[in-house]
Amino acid sequence: MTIRNLSLIMILLTLVVAGCQPKSEKTSLSPQDSLMLAKVNDFAVVTLTTDLGKLTEKEKQMIPLLIEVADIIDNLYWLQTLGDKTAFLDSIKDTITRQFAEINYGPWERLNGNKPFVEGYGEKPAGANFYPADMTKEEFEKWNDPNKTSQYTLIRRADDRSLKAVWYHEAYKDQITRAADLLKKAAGFAEDAGLKKYLELRAEAFLTDDYFASDMAWMDMKTNTIDFVIGPIENYEDELFGYKTSYEGVVLAKDQEWSKRLAKFASLLPELQKNLPVDPKYKKEKPGTDSDLNAYDVIYVTGQANKGSKTIAINLPNDEKVQLAKGSRRLQLKNAMKAKFEKILLPISEVLIDSGQRANIKFDAFFSNVMFHEVAHGLGIKNTITGKGNVREALKEKYSSFEEAKADILGLYMTTRLIEMGEIKDITVEDCFITYMAGLFRSVRFGAASAHGKANMMCYNYFEDKGAFERLPEGTYRVNMDKIRTAMNEWAAKVLMIEGDGDYQGAVTYLDANGKIRESLQADLDRLKTARIPVDIVYDQGLKVLGLN
Ligand SMILES: [Zn+2]
Repeated sequence: MTIRNLSLIMILLTLVVAGCQPKSEKTSLSPQDSLMLAKVNDFAVVTLTTDLGKLTEKEKQMIPLLIEVADIIDNLYWLQTLGDKTAFLDSIKDTITRQFAEINYGPWERLNGNKPFVEGYGEKPAGANFYPADMTKEEFEKWNDPNKTSQYTLIRRADDRSLKAVWYHEAYKDQITRAADLLKKAAGFAEDAGLKKYLELRAEAFLTDDYFASDMAWMDMKTNTIDFVIGPIENYEDELFGYKTSYEGVVLAKDQEWSKRLAKFASLLPELQKNLPVDPKYKKEKPGTDSDLNAYDVIYVTGQANKGSKTIAINLPNDEKVQLAKGSRRLQLKNAMKAKFEKILLPISEVLIDSGQRANIKFDAFFSNVMFHEVAHGLGIKNTITGKGNVREALKEKYSSFEEAKADILGLYMTTRLIEMGEIKDITVEDCFITYMAGLFRSVRFGAASAHGKANMMCYNYFEDKGAFERLPEGTYRVNMDKIRTAMNEWAAKVLMIEGDGDYQGAVTYLDANGKIRESLQADLDRLKTARIPVDIVYDQGLKVLGLN
């Protein structure tokens, strides 16, 4: 090699190295950009894959269609929440801020009390884009319309400024028609009769906003490998009344092996319901025994399910009529769960859990706690015992927080009970409590913005007041085994009673006083920030990473 060539190579090499510099190390980054970049990096990137070898050719042909439907639904979620996705994102010139806005599905930081981070945006409207921005609660309550509280209507202003209810399928007619067509096409690839029927009925439901028959068909579907959660489903985004549901799409592949392991617990539900630590009048209802519990790999996630925090378990359907007739289905998102355990929970424990208890933090315990959170949604009480109708209606916008609180604490209760009954053998009661505590730290970092966050905060504060754990001088936390069980039982009873009594005022008062992060905890949570532990995960997903393009 000549000297001349060598210097040319050196120049090229210098150029290549300069071109490879990560953005964060460029000195030109403003403090504002650095902050945004740190916020984006708070989300650990997780690639969504599954074992394609376990899928049939037709299943592999169906997946791209389902992904297309999920993408349509993603745009509808943007419309329900804020407005046109492309127009909004294009209005953000800075690429890092834009990336963060995509993670949050809007200009409000969902894991930080919905604080606005894009210039020109104020507080997040409680009613999202479901209601007119200038509508007051009083105006809505005075207005007489049979469809106003429907989960599937938008509230808009008519030409004379009066309120009107518009069905989702009318408001989003073009997108809905296209999605329904694709669902029918996907049904053509379904080899499983149950899946075929569900996809066909779901397409009809899209066009009518009557989801009952398709929800029933979804519950009847037992032997499918591919699953598709799709439609307007959860009501978390409507923080004004909790009536309106948001669109979401989740494409899944069932893990048949893990599912077998989970199946046996369903038969134990009635006995667990009977033994709940609360007065018998709050546990008279029978939980559905037809319910099933399965583990899945998440393949593709959009809409409500993809914004900010990623879900690790799904419990559906929400329709009480279907629940009473068929029970409900619990989907444990194993790959998402494992990712959160490894990328978030373990690093948090290193900072906040007493070193003597860290060995008790186990994936199986985390898996069980989360698994039974979902089971516990079906336990307790759905209709108030005070004549106030069902719990959802009685507790209005506070319902989600208490329902999540109930599921969380009864989930822990059930895991410990099943260990003592000898049904779960690979973990101990200590593992469950300590892993649960570490899990609380993970969850309360979400702040008080989401229903889950509020639920976890109420539980954390209750545990603190009852001495279920203590903070050691070195800044770590140790679970008190002799007190945490009593705290768990009493907190469970309290939540079950608020639900059963349909005590809306009690729920408001309790949440106001106990749903916030206290100063001492905030100081310790800030240490997690300093340690740069991811707050959540973001998905690298699609046909390419799946190996299907
Ligand atoms: Zn839940």
